[in-house]
Amino acid sequence: MLVRIATAIALVSAVPVFSMQESLISESQESTAEQLIEMGLASDSGYEIVRSLTTEVGPRLGGSRQEARARDWAVQMFTELGFENVRIEPFEMPYWDRGAISTSIVAPFPQPLRASALGGSAATPQGGIEAEIVFFESFEALRDFDGSLENRIAYVNDRMISAQTGAGYGPANQKRRFAWLEAEARGALGVMIRSVGTDSHRFPHTGMMSTPNDGTINSGTHSDVAIAYIREEHPDYAENRMWSSIPAVALSAPDADQIERIHESGESVTVRLSVIAGWRGSRQSGNVVAEIPGRERPEEIVLIGAHLDSWDEATGAVDDGAGVGIVTAAAHLIDQLPRAPRRTIRVVLFGAEEVGLLGAFAYARDNSEDIGNIVLASESDFGAGLVWSLASGTSEEGTRFMDEAQQIIAPLGIIRGDRASNGGGPDIIPLAARGVPVFRLNQDGTDYFDLHHTPDDTFDKIDPDSMAQNVAAWAAITWLAAETDVEFRTQDE
Ligand SMILES: [Zn+2]
Repeated sequence: MLVRIATAIALVSAVPVFSMQESLISESQESTAEQLIEMGLASDSGYEIVRSLTTEVGPRLGGSRQEARARDWAVQMFTELGFENVRIEPFEMPYWDRGAISTSIVAPFPQPLRASALGGSAATPQGGIEAEIVFFESFEALRDFDGSLENRIAYVNDRMISAQTGAGYGPANQKRRFAWLEAEARGALGVMIRSVGTDSHRFPHTGMMSTPNDGTINSGTHSDVAIAYIREEHPDYAENRMWSSIPAVALSAPDADQIERIHESGESVTVRLSVIAGWRGSRQSGNVVAEIPGRERPEEIVLIGAHLDSWDEATGAVDDGAGVGIVTAAAHLIDQLPRAPRRTIRVVLFGAEEVGLLGAFAYARDNSEDIGNIVLASESDFGAGLVWSLASGTSEEGTRFMDEAQQIIAPLGIIRGDRASNGGGPDIIPLAARGVPVFRLNQDGTDYFDLHHTPDDTFDKIDPDSMAQNVAAWAAITWLAAETDVEFRTQDE
């Protein structure tokens, strides 16, 4: 073995320099990308776009009038910035409304609790419910529970772990997505969970539950997991496409601690819960699209996106006003260069992401003939933290291109990430599933789940320097991908 390695090294060092693989990115392309980085770092336009959206539109729940106002805002912004082919691609969606909530501990120590209904939650019967809770340390404990929950409320306690990559979200989110199914199947009157979040503040974290709907699964970013889970554990739901018939709410972390302390003292906890949430028929949403047409290969598209909707509890600054600002500002910088890139850059602001990737599925369905023209796609939807790595999932040549591209953005503190990524962001899932190559500029998510889906997701949390770093990185990578003739798709697709 040692001999073989030694031979290999000898062979490698014997290869003359001039026969090395040629760079896929030319010196002049590199210098334009560097120019875009400089422009991005000096620009506050990403930050200003978030300011405008969060101030002038505010919260924008999928299907709401506020979300329609956000589309008008986006059309006006794109038009004023000089984008071409600005349009709204409308779609119909089922609309869920939060209504009001009130919840409290009745016994043994009466006091109010802070909670938020989960997306898809049913209402309580008029007058609310009052019941003892059954305490489950984890979602698995509820899933494995043999007994009945009749006339009681299931409570699931497990905590989320904070991580730069946000890796704690998927596991912690099981209870948000599926606890209602397990509770309802055992006859519970309702379900409460500890919020899926990493903060210690008194803000509950809302978020969508998972359910079968229109042949797809309303599942946020974990569609495959959700589909597999529901089909295996609850085939009746998968076939009948039922929604929750019980109320489902998340408690803020300190309120969950309160329940936990009382439970640990050996007392049983009785709570009151009143929720006026429910489905309110069909509404219109839409994706807003804008383009910089390519100068040589306009039919080839580099698609960059973010989602325009937010949860209704806050103005959605980090989720995903930041993404809207980042990709729009990056494309606008590119548009300020003396000439357009070879390929078209298409910016898509997806509607109704939070309530189940509805805009993403609508986009893939309504543009199915065009999907083959998308050469590369990505979404910015992980807040406003600094980008720290570039991941990609492309052809071999595309991977080599991204290796070189990362060298250009390395001065921004960005390392090379996963080279076999299949995730370009939540709204890219339906495109990636149809073979669209992806990249992702991974952001530091250490604090992201402190704010995520809470009333605390507001503009003051956005750091202008961090936004500028994001815009610089996005402008460089997007322009390079649009200027090159590298084929990012693998040959057999
Ligand atoms: Zn988001």
